[in-house]
Amino acid sequence: MQHASEPGLKSSIHNAQSATTFDLVIVGAGFAGLYMLHRARSAGLRAIVYEAGDGVGGTWYWNRYPGARCDVESLEYSYQFSDELQQQWHWTERFAPQPEILRYANHVADRFDLRRDIRFETRVLSAHFDEASARWEVRTDRSDGVSSQFVVMATGCLSSTNMPDFKGLDSFKGERFHTGAWPHEPVDFSGKRVAVIGTGSSAIQSIPIIAQQAAELTVFQRTANFSIPARNEALDPAKEAAVKAEYPAFRARNSLMMGAFGANMPRHEAPALAASPEERQRRFEERWTRGGLGFTGAFNDLMIDAKANELAAEYVRDRIRAVVKNPATAELLAPRQVIGCKRICVDSGYYETFNQENVQLVDISAGGIEEITPRGVRAGGREFAVDSIVFATGFDAMTGSLLKIDIRGRNGLALREAWRAGPRTYLGLNVAGFPNLFTVSGPGSPSVLTNMIVSIEQHVNWIADCIVWLRAGGQRTIEAEPQAQDAWVGHVNAVAGATLFPTCNSWYLGANVPGKTRVFMPLLGYPAYVQRCEEVVARGYEGFKVSA
Ligand code: FAD
Ligand code: NAP
Repeated sequence: MQHASEPGLKSSIHNAQSATTFDLVIVGAGFAGLYMLHRARSAGLRAIVYEAGDGVGGTWYWNRYPGARCDVESLEYSYQFSDELQQQWHWTERFAPQPEILRYANHVADRFDLRRDIRFETRVLSAHFDEASARWEVRTDRSDGVSSQFVVMATGCLSSTNMPDFKGLDSFKGERFHTGAWPHEPVDFSGKRVAVIGTGSSAIQSIPIIAQQAAELTVFQRTANFSIPARNEALDPAKEAAVKAEYPAFRARNSLMMGAFGANMPRHEAPALAASPEERQRRFEERWTRGGLGFTGAFNDLMIDAKANELAAEYVRDRIRAVVKNPATAELLAPRQVIGCKRICVDSGYYETFNQENVQLVDISAGGIEEITPRGVRAGGREFAVDSIVFATGFDAMTGSLLKIDIRGRNGLALREAWRAGPRTYLGLNVAGFPNLFTVSGPGSPSVLTNMIVSIEQHVNWIADCIVWLRAGGQRTIEAEPQAQDAWVGHVNAVAGATLFPTCNSWYLGANVPGKTRVFMPLLGYPAYVQRCEEVVARGYEGFKVSA
């Protein structure tokens, strides 16, 4: 299904090193793996990247569904480590479309000559720590294994697709797609009857475009989601010039935001409950009109006070009712959970799509999908015959790709075992008992609650600096102290527990995957987190055990 559609991809497979001993093995060639390789080289480390796909870009390599684009503005959703790169790269839209982000990832790989140390179409199967040598033995589906002092899991938080185990799934005679593993050839739904299962961000981005092509589109909704219009547009040259004139200062302002983005429209620091109805309406309206993720920044109590949140939620429901002409459909599309509790979606014409005659919404909140049949989808006791099914059913988020790898630390301890009751990390960077193994944007770090490229760079810089420090001091291993990890897990839970985030069945909690332990995985608040990481370093890697 995947093809080398970007220039020069295949050649790197042949140029890659044939060595079997490394300082650093990096798993994944998304934005995290690419920058980790760049930093590793600058630090003089002998590093190699293994990537399951046949190209770089990670998320933007796999998610090629129609309408895929970022929901953090392009001028922010990009690397800042190279001022030349950020000055010279030109984004064409306020929110960059997937093909452009993929081109950017490829540009970075070429510009920094990264491909020669990336082995594509190579999946890491296991990583075992050998006590005697204090090194990791890493095995892939293409080799007997290599030895490395350090391993960085840059495997991505949203890289393991969630395909529910629907009854009859394999019996379907038509075409089926998952948004997170979209074919590389163009898919044309013209004249077809299409089903979309799911109404998260991926569905909400793709549905308006599929609806333009398809003869009939049937959307199966288990839970309605809140979506705010993107108001996407061509990037204003004056805005681009203004940002580029002071890019480092622009980045610095964003890094002080809770989610490391959106300094151009910071949260209004007053409670909704103290505002007059007119002021509330005005502030919600202002954010709705501006578009994008900043909506829940209209007041500072929206994510901590259920009554305040309900005011914002009802504002959005009213906007949905105003757009969707059929009142029954509008009510079905109006979400009932806390707004912001599941990640808010950002759309271009989502609600309007349900006014099209060829589009129908099927509520499966009560009985779910009963089965996939050879002809289509059965729900609510009725069979919907379709030619194609799009599964927009999301990801086994944050832990999925890590736990697919057989990772074993000291005394053969399996990560799957260590995380049986949910992921446990120190700073989202390392797990007690797994020396010299780092995760980028792992559970317990701000990660998916931020502009992820910013979080990725912060993690990669921390890891690279740590390795350099360790080696300069003649030390061999670094690992989290169990007590420090326990305290950190407690901190992450306490921060989330003081908010409305844990109140719905989100993938932040693992609630979207049957059987997954329900734990709030990311940490809220980027600036405080960065400060903590810096303090840990300043205090000689406090909470870590270092051994020679
Ligand atoms: P990924 O990009 O997921 O890369 C991980 C790579 O590791 C993949 O290529 C995978 O093939 C590889 N891999 C995994 N396991 C193995 C293995 N065992 N062996 C070999 N290779 C392996 N974030 C934002 O901040 N803003 C956005 O607007 C935004 N939009 C998004 C839109 C979509 C559709 C999705 C799915 C996510 C979005 N995200 C967004 C989150 C996005 O995942 C991150 O922004 C970022 O791209 C993650 O980069 P990464 O390198 O950490 O992981
Ligand atoms: P998602 O948010 O998890 O949505 C998955 C959808 O599938 C949900 O509507 C879910 O319903 C439904 N679903 C899952 N299992 C189902 C089942 N067994 N039966 C019926 N329905 C089922 O996944 P996603 O849309 O791929 O997005 C994941 C994350 O990726 C986003 O939150 C975001 O962080 C990122 N993303 C960002 C963008 C962007 O705008 N830049 C675009 C896409 C993705 P329930 O809600 O009931 O579980």
